[in-house]
Amino acid sequence: MRNWSFLEHIKLRWGEITAVSVGVLLLSLALSGGDEESIPAAAEQGEIALTTEPVVAEPVDISQRPTSRYELPLTWEGPSAKVETLSPDDESTPQTLLKQRSVEIKSGDTLSALFQSQGFSARDVYRVTQDPLAEKTLRRIRPGKTLLFETDESQQLVGVYYELAINETLQVKLTGDKFVAEIKKRPIEIRHAFASGVISDSLFAAGKDAGLSDTLIVKLANVFGWDIDFVLDVRKNDSFAMIYETKFLDGEFIGDGEIIAAQFINQGEVFQAVRYTDKDGNDNFYTPEGKSMRKAFLRAPVNFMYISSNFKPKRFHPILKRWKAHRGIDYRAPTGTPIYAAGDGKVIASSQNKYNGKYVFIQHGNNIVTKYLHMSRRAVSNGKRVKQGQVIGYVGATGLAEAPHLHYEFVVGGVHRNPRTVKLPEALPVAKSERERFTQQTQSLLASLESYQKFNSVALGQ
Ligand SMILES: [Zn+2]
Repeated sequence: MRNWSFLEHIKLRWGEITAVSVGVLLLSLALSGGDEESIPAAAEQGEIALTTEPVVAEPVDISQRPTSRYELPLTWEGPSAKVETLSPDDESTPQTLLKQRSVEIKSGDTLSALFQSQGFSARDVYRVTQDPLAEKTLRRIRPGKTLLFETDESQQLVGVYYELAINETLQVKLTGDKFVAEIKKRPIEIRHAFASGVISDSLFAAGKDAGLSDTLIVKLANVFGWDIDFVLDVRKNDSFAMIYETKFLDGEFIGDGEIIAAQFINQGEVFQAVRYTDKDGNDNFYTPEGKSMRKAFLRAPVNFMYISSNFKPKRFHPILKRWKAHRGIDYRAPTGTPIYAAGDGKVIASSQNKYNGKYVFIQHGNNIVTKYLHMSRRAVSNGKRVKQGQVIGYVGATGLAEAPHLHYEFVVGGVHRNPRTVKLPEALPVAKSERERFTQQTQSLLASLESYQKFNSVALGQ
């Protein structure tokens, strides 16, 4: 289908859309607070330690929050659909005559032992594994999975089942006088869901309020992680909206899929991204104009999900004016927070001294070096190649640091630059040869995102 009937579906089935209840929130994760003193001139090698106040996690009143998550009663029929085809199950034996029992596979179990434990003979094992597919598959049974045996009214083995994946089962059934194996696949139905939220404490909190899983919140942050620093840039009243996939098996929800379109409004600036799979099957996020969301450097080299501190909306954030004073940016974060390589590169230092504590320097292309100080633990050694987003160490307070934080420096051609404002090369946009296809596929998605947001606002009385 070219013109997805999204909007019509929504109109028709709007009455069925129900808000999913909001979870209880125990922890408010937020960007770094603003109570540190400004930093005097930096020490030669490292920096002056920060004064930090203890981070307080507060429960959040979510009753008034205009956040929501809707299941959209839609089946995705666009190009990214991954619905598999299924041959209808041709069971003809009346189920009432058959009995099933299952056994969980434990470490060290053999097929023979499992058969035996259920009262079956070595001959049963032999007969079942005469089928090459059964033999090949059952030879690799894994602990934690389940083997299911089926017997007829005279207790004879007539079937063996082994789950290969959530929607994939090996079925070995007695057919005539032989066991015949076959892998049965059930279709995973992809539906669309919409979620939106307004941030009052943090993206994490707002995402939770909207009913999103941690994984989805991280995915959302990853979509915009090259443009927005989710530790330092997020403010009260920032908002997000997204359409994402949900997976269903036999009508039952089995998990979230990928984000397919998303918007984040950060301090009034609108960022939009849409997922596009090119003709070679590569998935990437692009702006509506077809520019890549991906860039050479991440905005924040720390996992924002670990950052927990109170929001100080009315106060100027000190980080921005402070970076110049000591040539770096500080991310206050609990000890152990993963630190990421901001870009692809090679480790040119992984060491420690009394100023920097444990530190890692990475050499990137374009004569750029990034530096990460005060780690509690380093995760890479000198000379090693690293990928963007790879964990290179963990936040700590080693060297000249009073409280756990990451001190991050960005050096271009030997000159310290502010990573928050420096212009960086962008990844390749959508290829010219794919522009038409890109536009066709993404325009309606972005239009849907807008429509959902409007409906959502209406539904919530805004
Ligand atoms: Zn610092």
